[in-house]
Amino acid sequence: MKQAKYDVVVIGAGLGGLTAGALLVTAGFKVLVAEKVSFIGGRCGNVEYKGFHLPTGAIWLSDEVHGELCREVGAQLDLRIIDPPYYFRIGGKDYPAPIAGIFRTMFGKASKDEGEIVRVMKAFKRGIAWQEPSMNLSVYDWLMQYADNQTMAGIIRAFVAMDTGLNHFELPAGEFFRFVKETSFVKKGGLCAYGGGSLTAALAKVIKDKGGDIWLRCAAKEIIVRDGVAVGVRLRRDDIEDIEVSATAIACNAGPKTAVEAVGRQHFDSGYLKDIDNIKGAPQMIIYVESDESLTGGKTMFMWPEARRVFCCLDYTGICPEVTPPGKFLLEACSYLTHSEGPYDMKSEVELSMMDLRENIEDFDKRARVLKVLCYHNQYGLMRVWAGQPFEFKTPIENLYLSCDSAAPHGWWGSSAAVKSGRLTAEEITRRFKPSGTKV
Ligand SMILES: Cc1cc2nc3c(=O)[nH]c(=O)nc-3n(C[C@H](O)[C@H](O)[C@H](O)COP(=O)(O)OP(=O)(O)OC[C@H]3O[C@@H](n4cnc5c(N)ncnc54)[C@H](O)[C@@H]3O)c2cc1C
Repeated sequence: MKQAKYDVVVIGAGLGGLTAGALLVTAGFKVLVAEKVSFIGGRCGNVEYKGFHLPTGAIWLSDEVHGELCREVGAQLDLRIIDPPYYFRIGGKDYPAPIAGIFRTMFGKASKDEGEIVRVMKAFKRGIAWQEPSMNLSVYDWLMQYADNQTMAGIIRAFVAMDTGLNHFELPAGEFFRFVKETSFVKKGGLCAYGGGSLTAALAKVIKDKGGDIWLRCAAKEIIVRDGVAVGVRLRRDDIEDIEVSATAIACNAGPKTAVEAVGRQHFDSGYLKDIDNIKGAPQMIIYVESDESLTGGKTMFMWPEARRVFCCLDYTGICPEVTPPGKFLLEACSYLTHSEGPYDMKSEVELSMMDLRENIEDFDKRARVLKVLCYHNQYGLMRVWAGQPFEFKTPIENLYLSCDSAAPHGWWGSSAAVKSGRLTAEEITRRFKPSGTKV
């Protein structure tokens, strides 16, 4: 079998893996990123479909998390900030929503009862400034203690679905408040020319420019462990050739399940295996709609807290004309599902979303055509594990790390969680090792 040696092998070229890789090459480590499929980015990439560039997942990025990472490693990111970030449609009217004070502003539109708003906001502030509510209470049940208002619940539901793929009755209230606290530094968000794919392409370029390697169509088949320590990876390239790569540290971006399968279950205790077997992905349905004119009157992002399924509609072309063929517009409608654990009745889920689109977009059937309907679920869901149930980025196997959205601290979700996890991995490897494998 062919042999190779690197300081760090990253399994997977998704955002978490490329974050760890870009930070580590910048710190002088010899890095190999091995990616199973023929394109980079995982759920933060883009693919061409009938002349449109469709995202494979993430599109909404922030200057503070993603922009900052790029500045740090010298990656070029053309992030187009959207201001105001959203419009909320409440009672048929569209209200601009600023990031700062968004809940106070939107609750004010959702309720005419000042006492109700004061009650909710008082509890909200206490949850932020003093102690977050229990993890045994859903954020929906938390709200219903202070308000009897389904539009307020819909506002929270839209946020929760956008960032975690869960429903508000599935997300623990404690986790919601940690998210609000952890991400309060984020003030500027937007889209890149080719969605999250612009970000992962920029990070991949940094890795290559600084001497790292990225091998595509190269799946990790085995993580080699000796005496409880990860020492290398067996890779299969182009489905034919096996290569054994030894490394000082391994960062698995492909998620905890893949990591355990590649190591072998016999190396883990029953508690860790139970956590692995209990993993549930958080789903999201996306309907891509094409048209010959903007369907949103030029506004970029709409939240529909009163709709049945569609919680967010994004006029992609308005801010990123590059994604569509000339003269065409692309709208992305994001929907939650009745519940996040399958099986799903997809026919009825799609029908409910279509009813929302017809009700909220004038002359929808005359002006718009459905381009593609996708349902992301299980290990390709919006998040690979439910928010509130994250894994530690260090695994029970020494020198084997998880760098993915399922391995960030509580309160970190989606692509920000992938970045955070990649950062934690890179910081820990940099702290413990010197480039070229010498242990500090
Ligand atoms: C529809 C949708 C919309 C989303 N929208 C947003 C958004 O707007 N904003 C946001 O912040 N987040 C969003 N997210 C969430 C975000 O996309 C993910 O949280 C993030 O991209 C996950 O990155 P990751 O690196 O953890 O994993 P992944 O992107 O899944 O990357 C894992 C990589 O590992 C590879 N791999 C798997 N097995 C192997 C193996 N054996 N060997 C080698 N490689 C392997 C995979 O091919 C993949 O490339 C969205 C997700 C979806 C699905």
